[in-house]
Amino acid sequence: MRHIAIVGSGPAGYYTAEAAQRLWGDAVRVDIFDLLPVPFGLIRTGVAPDHQSIKGVSKRYEKVALNENVRFIGNVAVGKDVSVAELQGLYDAVVLATGAPHDRPLDLPGTGLANVFGSAAFVGWYNGHPQHAGLEPDLSGATAIVIGMGNVALDVARILAKTPAEFAGSDIVSHAFDALADSRIQRIVILGRRGPHQIAMTPKELGELGELARAAPVVEPADLPPPEADEPLDPGLRKSIAHLRHFAALGAGERAGKSVRIEFAFLAQPVSLHGDGSVREIKVELTRLAGERAEGTGVFGHLPADLVVSCIGYRTSPIAGVPFDERAGRFANEEGRIAAGLYCVGWARRGPTGTIGTNRPDGYAAIERIAEDLERTPGGEEKQGRAAFDALAATRGLDVVTFRDWKRIEEAEERAAREGSPREKFVDIAAMIRARG
Ligand code: NAP
Repeated sequence: MRHIAIVGSGPAGYYTAEAAQRLWGDAVRVDIFDLLPVPFGLIRTGVAPDHQSIKGVSKRYEKVALNENVRFIGNVAVGKDVSVAELQGLYDAVVLATGAPHDRPLDLPGTGLANVFGSAAFVGWYNGHPQHAGLEPDLSGATAIVIGMGNVALDVARILAKTPAEFAGSDIVSHAFDALADSRIQRIVILGRRGPHQIAMTPKELGELGELARAAPVVEPADLPPPEADEPLDPGLRKSIAHLRHFAALGAGERAGKSVRIEFAFLAQPVSLHGDGSVREIKVELTRLAGERAEGTGVFGHLPADLVVSCIGYRTSPIAGVPFDERAGRFANEEGRIAAGLYCVGWARRGPTGTIGTNRPDGYAAIERIAEDLERTPGGEEKQGRAAFDALAATRGLDVVTFRDWKRIEEAEERAAREGSPREKFVDIAAMIRARG
């Protein structure tokens, strides 16, 4: 029997469990740990609430979860309630699938002002992550600055721009739905330190900005390179640039009746934030490209900024005793191997890049590596797996939330849903635990 512990129940964790099941069938027991009493990680608290089709992938994870050989062990903090070393003593392999829940810091003067947030907090707020649900961003100002030109910046800009009716069918939590309904933001500036050819926005997501009810994207035609310069680009990026060209060609007529502008500001890097307790202004420096890098020009400008959300990437949360690559912001690893019996997968392995689907091959590769390593070192001490963990959990008085418990929590969330919404998420841990009955 193989005993595998997976830490983190997001996409990387469940694809790894699926791979273990496919490889070993009934000869494996997998325990998937999560800090929260609810599973699916980024699917629940990262993917935008109006992207329900992406969230649908959790049905696939549920199939894995409902197999008896796989357990969900929610409400257990690995590194605190139980150490990684302890898990290593109980399981043949421990796989860290903890994602990258912290913001890459925007290390600038003024980031301590009120109403300046990283995307982990802001996205967590509208997605009801217990850690960020109480954020209370002030949306009463006119201008929001979104820093970064990746898909998270697009998510944040789109969510800020939508009308209540456009959230129909989404699972945006009520506190965010209500706050956004009262929002007075009229101008959203997406700030990129490099140019249009360096954006990290994918075509489908960028195209959505052109379909909003009260908001229109604004691209200055002069900011775009000549069309022939797009030809050598890869096809995905070319499609994204085609959207920017379309936005640049929109005339006043097409923007008529749109009360919110989503402006693209290229080649401008943030320098400092200013305000009176709360942020009011951002100083930027115009840049030029030196090869692929942005280089300051020494020309500065100021933009009003009543809300700032920095969407510049993420970092993994270090765990005591596990080697960490500070520069890259993830566990130090060689192709997913951290140390004997200890592995990482997904964003915790490779950093915060790629789509949900990228984690599938990642999870399968992790299990292949584990299988190789187990074969190379046969006949070691037999690990006790789940039975031994249960004994440890009982001694420590851990209140483990199971997948069956989660299904009851989920039913309660579905019962509480606003009309037209699939669920109303519980946003605090105590309420989740109460709801399991
Ligand atoms: P990202 O794609 O890496 O984009 C980060 C952006 O921040 C880049 O434009 C980057 O510019 C900029 N940036 C980084 N450091 C900066 C700094 N110090 N100052 C100013 N700008 C800075 O990251 P992300 O948007 O967080 O997305 C993470 C991953 O999740 C991506 O793979 C993304 O595609 C994926 N995702 C997908 C979806 C979807 O498919 N619907 C939705 C959300 C996220 P430079 O290029 O100049 O570094």
